[in-house]
Amino acid sequence: DVCVLGSFMKDLVATAERRPLPGETLHGTGFAEFLGGKGVNQAIAAARMGARTAIVGTIGEDRYGEEFLDLLSTDGVDTGWVVRHPELGTGVGLPLVLPDGSNSIIIVSRANAAITPDDIAAAGEVLTGSRVLSVQLELPVEASRAALQLASTAGATTILTPAPVGPVDASLARYVDILVPNEVEAAALTGLDCDDESQVPVIARKLAEEWDLRGCVVTLGSRGAFVLDRERDLELRVAPHRVATVDTVGAGDAFCGSLAASLAEGAALADAVRLANAAGALSTTVNGAADSAPNRSDAQALLDA
Ligand code: ADP
Repeated sequence: DVCVLGSFMKDLVATAERRPLPGETLHGTGFAEFLGGKGVNQAIAAARMGARTAIVGTIGEDRYGEEFLDLLSTDGVDTGWVVRHPELGTGVGLPLVLPDGSNSIIIVSRANAAITPDDIAAAGEVLTGSRVLSVQLELPVEASRAALQLASTAGATTILTPAPVGPVDASLARYVDILVPNEVEAAALTGLDCDDESQVPVIARKLAEEWDLRGCVVTLGSRGAFVLDRERDLELRVAPHRVATVDTVGAGDAFCGSLAASLAEGAALADAVRLANAAGALSTTVNGAADSAPNRSDAQALLDA
């Protein structure tokens, strides 16, 4: 079983010809809304890979919160551990997308920022009962640490996606088994450059050493992934699948959720990365984040092709 601790973010996306000037009201050219947040995206990806999946996090007692509960239960994700904050609304993201595809985003964490170690303790049963816990860095670090500690002490495999990019609290390291940075995060954590292919194994080894990891997986976007499995003393460069990419948003989350699902089945890390690499690739062929994760049979078919 997989448990994901993470964020719920309702994205309200405006498109416009340019950014508004200070004090200006500008007519936009389009609008769309999406349900996302790394926690939600990863949980749906894990469930679609066939894992029994639960999500732990905090939403508001509002309409967006209801939308998340509906979406997650459609994919069979257990939402029984989700806390509803009585005052703060569900987290929102307000991206402004310009014609060249570049964006500026305002994020208001709201209920996400209110999760406490007490909320984590209340979810102790699911955190200690899962084979794999996946955590990102969108929630307060005290809550993330409490969850990692509980699951790790109970013998679960713990995965950390160090996203969004930024300084990582050193106290998390001792409870993390597998770290999964993308290129930007790997560079920020090590000061080394993933563009230089020869540096990728060096980066993974450096992180594995510093964090005392069981494994390190560096996701490399359209270049695939790299996996270091210290338990099996194995390093592997996993080649990308060639797919018709339309939108790479959420690829990392599809990858991590699938990785968690495969590890929960008892797969070796390298095999879990192969499945995740197929799932990440397929997620780029569909627009959106939470809803772009593929199902197991499609990922398996790409893997076997
Ligand atoms: P993030 O979304 O965190 O930036 P990446 O861009 O590294 O993460 O993507 C995660 C994984 O998804 C990659 O390691 C790869 O397996 C897959 N992936 C992403 N983009 C592509 C692509 N254009 N073609 C094939 N696979 C991709």
